Amino acid sequence: MLTVLTPQEAAEVIFERFVPLAESAEIVGLGGALGRVLYDDVVAKEYVPGFDRSTVDGYAVISSDTFGCSESIPALLMLSGEVLMGKAAQGALLSGTCAAVSTGGDLPEGADAVVMLEYTEDFGNGLIGITSPVAPGNNIIFKGDDTVIGNAILSCGTSLTSIEIGILAALGIDQVAVRRKPRVAIISTGDELVAPSETPLRGQIRDVNTPMLTAVAEQCHALPVVYGIVRDDEVALRSAVERAVAECDITLISGGSSAGTRDLTACVIEAAGDILFHGIAMKPGKPTILGVIDGKPVFGLPGHPVAAYFVTELFVRPLIARLMGTEIVRRTVTARLSEALSSNHGRAEYIAVMMRRGDAMQGSGVRGQGPGDESAIARPVRGKSGLISSLAGVDGYICVPRDSEGIPKGAVVEVTLL
Ligand code: AMP
Ligand code: MG
Repeated sequence: MLTVLTPQEAAEVIFERFVPLAESAEIVGLGGALGRVLYDDVVAKEYVPGFDRSTVDGYAVISSDTFGCSESIPALLMLSGEVLMGKAAQGALLSGTCAAVSTGGDLPEGADAVVMLEYTEDFGNGLIGITSPVAPGNNIIFKGDDTVIGNAILSCGTSLTSIEIGILAALGIDQVAVRRKPRVAIISTGDELVAPSETPLRGQIRDVNTPMLTAVAEQCHALPVVYGIVRDDEVALRSAVERAVAECDITLISGGSSAGTRDLTACVIEAAGDILFHGIAMKPGKPTILGVIDGKPVFGLPGHPVAAYFVTELFVRPLIARLMGTEIVRRTVTARLSEALSSNHGRAEYIAVMMRRGDAMQGSGVRGQGPGDESAIARPVRGKSGLISSLAGVDGYICVPRDSEGIPKGAVVEVTLL
């Protein structure tokens, strides 16, 4: 008997049944930190910036020297020198003088503002005219404005993006403790499968799912562990699954997940553990199994690559994120449907779409929807679920809910971006 759940119910089972992995840390350099999850809070051990800096090219001044000046009556200041980039400013600024400074340069002692070059005039012989007054603090970023010592800058559990990596660099942290990557076991099953490097004989096909799922695991910043192609043989599958479960945190078995006699995945999971559900009311992807062996999740994914892809996108990626103690943020945009979609039959249907930019985005180099652009168009990409090439270049997918009467051409739909 298949225990068929709705996609929503399947997602809830995943969230409730599995918790983040017990944490253990590893140290990585910033070059290897992208996508990794912080093991500890990061606390600033330095002031950033470490000195008061100019935010413009111009002249460091004592602001009161500029009060009341204007284009017709400039304040006249003597140039005391130039602050060199990368060097500390030499000497204190006295009233009636100014110092040339570039963006990011050190602010001399005594100076409390910087006048932009645009509001100055060089009269020669060291005489600088200021044509617009500045107030104390103008055009300066002060020592510690970014961070002060002891500030918790990033919290444990943060996924590191290019932004956080930049922040760590600014703080002088080039080695960082991150949670270890979950190990994702990948098993393909089927007597008809050969490795992508081989030439299939008649009746054989290449194993698409192993490289595809490997890429998904890498995309999730998890560690793929490939167990290769396993024949449709219960003993062989059982021993592969035993090894995978012992060595990894999550096991993905593709193929053999239906309820037919040649479909061994359910038998093998059931013999070693429990099945949480067998079947999701979705298209493609109905023959999906989630089981648990020794407390670890074991997915039986459909063999059809397109179905395997959708199930992975919708359920496997969130589970990997859950194990990592993070979550997936899905981005959606609205678009108009380029053609009508017919009703489906009691299953939520996921349909890949290509986006065309609306008129407002013409020539912007951006495909799809931009801010304030209501005219992006989503074109459904239909292909039989065995044909992975149908997914080439898609931008996202839409979901036609179960029991929907279909969606008319031109209707506004929500596109989840891939
Ligand atoms: P199954 O779920 O084992 O009944 O497989 C469903 C369909 O997907 C069959 O046509 C299989 O040949 C195909 N298939 C299964 N596994 C893979 C794979 N790893 N790569 C490509 N196609 C597959
Ligand atoms: Mg099979």
